Amino acid sequence: MLVFDEKKYAEKLLKDKKFQTYRQKDIERYILIRYLHEKGLNNDEIRQKLDKFPLIGCEYLDKKDVDLIYERIFQRALSCPLVTNVEIKIYKEEIDAINSLDDNFAQDLLFVLLVYYKWAINQNYLYFFSKHNNVKMVMTNDIDIWKYANIMKLRVSERHQLSNKLILNNLYIEDNFKSYNYFYLPFIKNDGDIAFTINNYDNILGELHIYNNPDDYKRCSNCKVVIKKTRSPKKYCNNCAKLIKNKQNKKYYKNKI
Ligand SMILES: [Zn+2]
Repeated sequence: MLVFDEKKYAEKLLKDKKFQTYRQKDIERYILIRYLHEKGLNNDEIRQKLDKFPLIGCEYLDKKDVDLIYERIFQRALSCPLVTNVEIKIYKEEIDAINSLDDNFAQDLLFVLLVYYKWAINQNYLYFFSKHNNVKMVMTNDIDIWKYANIMKLRVSERHQLSNKLILNNLYIEDNFKSYNYFYLPFIKNDGDIAFTINNYDNILGELHIYNNPDDYKRCSNCKVVIKKTRSPKKYCNNCAKLIKNKQNKKYYKNKI
């Protein structure tokens, strides 16, 4: 589970009426509570909305105990703010380090790791400060990173070879802490010339590609997400194209009635 924007994530959960993961549903529930709280709902109203997201194992407890459990869940959920519109800066020197790799897949993988790292060091539950390395280390999440880097089409062994390449080039360092794996990126910068900033995480890889090859990519006229230029004069990303078509259809049928 990678959550770059909790507002969007919560909206998707409510639309689908179910959790997206099994193992991390507690964190997903916290996100929902933060989102609904931010929308101005009180705790009772939020509990009603959570009906579709039941607490497993509480079916046989009496109401008083369930209320107590929820009290604790609300406390934890609201102990940090809703994470939305986090803006991260990508520096030119970081892009140079990424582009120095001779393999496009390795570049894509390293870029997604960079974005994830910079986002995750704002999330308490995803990092710890390593005294040994004197840096913040972020919890690894290979599967989701691979999905965002669009390398799931490669064989698992090939994906691991890419990671090895990053390690051998001293661009990626992993460590184990309390039986979880954490990583950091030694080439990361905190100042210098900014290449670009990211606050929309819908197509992370697109941001690297449009920066490196501006002639081959453009932005959706509606949401600004990066899309590949094709021969057809496409104006919108797939999501927006669908939304706009739906709206037009509704309008069309309204006019007919
Ligand atoms: Zn769009």
